[in-house]
Amino acid sequence: KQTIHVIGGGLAGTEAAWQIASVGISVVLWEMRPNRFGGAHHTEHLAELVCSNSFGAMASDRAAGLLHEELRQLNSIVISKADEHAVPAGGALAVDRGQFSQDLTQTLAQHPLIELRREALRVIPEGIVVLATGPLTSPELAEDLRRFTGMEYLSFFDAASPIIVGESINHDIAFLASRYDKGEAAYLNCPMNKEQYLQFWQELRTAEQVELKDFERETAKFFEACLPIEELARRGEDTMRYGPLKPVGLSDSRTGERPYAVIQLRQEDKAGQLWNMVGFQTNLRWGEQKRIFQMIPGLENAEFVRLGVMHRNTFLNAPVLMQPSLQFINRPTLLAAGQIIGTEGYTAAAAGGWLAGTNAARLALGKEPLTLPKTTMMGSLFEFISSASPKHFQPMPPNFGIFPELGQKIKNKQERYGRYRDRALADLKELINSVQQ
Ligand code: FAD
Repeated sequence: KQTIHVIGGGLAGTEAAWQIASVGISVVLWEMRPNRFGGAHHTEHLAELVCSNSFGAMASDRAAGLLHEELRQLNSIVISKADEHAVPAGGALAVDRGQFSQDLTQTLAQHPLIELRREALRVIPEGIVVLATGPLTSPELAEDLRRFTGMEYLSFFDAASPIIVGESINHDIAFLASRYDKGEAAYLNCPMNKEQYLQFWQELRTAEQVELKDFERETAKFFEACLPIEELARRGEDTMRYGPLKPVGLSDSRTGERPYAVIQLRQEDKAGQLWNMVGFQTNLRWGEQKRIFQMIPGLENAEFVRLGVMHRNTFLNAPVLMQPSLQFINRPTLLAAGQIIGTEGYTAAAAGGWLAGTNAARLALGKEPLTLPKTTMMGSLFEFISSASPKHFQPMPPNFGIFPELGQKIKNKQERYGRYRDRALADLKELINSVQQ
């Protein structure tokens, strides 16, 4: 049996290497730390948590909690160690970060089939490979990856606008239209009068920002064309009205009038359950984003699947390149997982590592790679990243907005999420049983 190479010992690579070794296949796990650091990591341990120590909400009728539960069912090493080193965090699965990654490092190091090599790979090796080098992939490897994928399919900076759950938008206020009525009405438009605009503008100018890290400030310089919304606000009272908030070509069909300013929301998924705030890339703190963006008429009760960010983030245009099995379309023996394929967050990275590792092992054993049911949190996420619109592709965290709908409409959100959970766990069980047979 051939040895599989896993590049990157972060959340995704650690899980992938463990899953491969667990079925009796030898793995070389390449990790560049401590010889080289990407700018956010501080230790030499595997699966280091670069910022928060939380894996998200624990309840299984919440998106993160369901993902935890699916990973438990699949014998994920990352989640089992997270459970073991959990600390009290009021409903969230948070861990003692030191113990968590030290334990994972030791556990992997002791596995006879896992060889840990502390070296930065510069080129993608031949054979069966799992790429899991994360948001701060080393520049040489990123260059090699770019040669393989094509220049335009690898981004180094994530300037993402918030994404909102469709049903939390007030459709009595937001209206569907395209500018100058061109083509199909494709945008939801949140209209503002002058008073509302000025108040919004004032709040944006003075809102609290996230402190950029040095390496992020460096990268941000290259993105003059993609300014944060608060920076536009600071440049003058009307700058936003000549930019993303311009009202030209839009009239509210209910009043027949052109609003003073308009915030446009663009559909993010095929089913129209997720909407992206056009031009709202931002460095504002998350609490500030919620407070200020909920001032927008129509978004009073907006539920955010993802808030805006602007940071260094190496990620591929997965919809063009990847299959839902996490194999590359052009080279099925190369698989990838984690932040580099545009899934967002620690747990999603572990989930990708599980599937990419499992499928790498299946390839080595001459078995068909798995695709997970779309009704599971893992399956829906990998389906999304491999089939979203490539033009506006942005990293996506796990969420219920990308789930296929239930057969019947259930108005109560918590009840609906509970039903999603039941369906997901039942379908996953069926898959596990069929694989074990
Ligand atoms: P990583 O965990 O980063 O692992 C990738 C590994 O690959 C690293 O260990 C790196 O050293 C190694 N590597 C890179 N290039 C090479 C190479 N050429 N050869 C060998 N090894 C290499 N997510 C959250 O859920 N919560 C947060 O609070 C959070 N905060 C973040 C803060 C910052 C500043 C950044 C950049 C990201 C943050 N994220 C956060 C996203 C986070 O990075 C991911 O959730 C998670 O770490 C992704 O896992 P991964 O395995 O894809 O990448």
